Amino acid sequence: MKLIEFQSVSKSYNGRLAVEDFSLSVEPGERIVILGPSGCGKTTVLRLLAGFITPDTGSISIGNELVARDGQNLRQPEERDLGMVFQDLALWPHLSVKGNLEFGLRARKLSASDRKQRIHEILRLVEMTEYLKARPTELSGGQQQRVALARALVLQPKALLMDEPLSNLDEELNRRLRKEILRLHQALGFTLLFVTHDREESAELGTRVVFMRSGRIERIESQPSPTAVVGPN
Ligand code: ADP
Repeated sequence: MKLIEFQSVSKSYNGRLAVEDFSLSVEPGERIVILGPSGCGKTTVLRLLAGFITPDTGSISIGNELVARDGQNLRQPEERDLGMVFQDLALWPHLSVKGNLEFGLRARKLSASDRKQRIHEILRLVEMTEYLKARPTELSGGQQQRVALARALVLQPKALLMDEPLSNLDEELNRRLRKEILRLHQALGFTLLFVTHDREESAELGTRVVFMRSGRIERIESQPSPTAVVGPN
């Protein structure tokens, strides 16, 4: 079964091709890393999938439903049921951790007890339970990352899209959060599309790595699953 399918997608900005003839099928639970140098079109691929921009030609499906085709957006971003964590985390500074997590659950009209249960469960998984009432500014960079991850995952999205989420972090924190992502993946089994220019990140995180250059897929490589992903940080 395919969860996500890009079929021959191309996208230009001001007459310059940013992504060309991009085709990729993603199965549920896969961890896809899109790897390539700055400007090669990685972010554009995620933005196309999220629905922020529309392919000029080609089509995109999510869960067997066509969401965009040949210049037409058939499903708005909020209808696509995807979670997102970008480099700029964009946590809402005026809301507590609970408020940040609750916002999307309220929009989906979950009952108060369901909201509470989901928030409790995800905060337990990212080991942030005691920070329920904290504001983002009171948290360290790594803690903010965990909240951003929790905020995306609490909605149980069809897939999690991450765009260079670790690039601003120091080496030690970067390493810890890579492990954290793998641990959460093992616990929850979500589908991941992760964009980076960093080979080390791609080697650790991807079940498949899509190598991009100048808007095109150069090659796709499968990677053996890491065995010992759980353990002390
Ligand atoms: P990457 O994520 O690999 O760094 P991007 O997808 O951001 O690459 O960009 C691919 C190409 O498209 C680059 O040449 C970039 O300058 C161009 N581009 C990206 N976004 C826009 C935009 N909003 N307007 C014009 N050009 C853009």
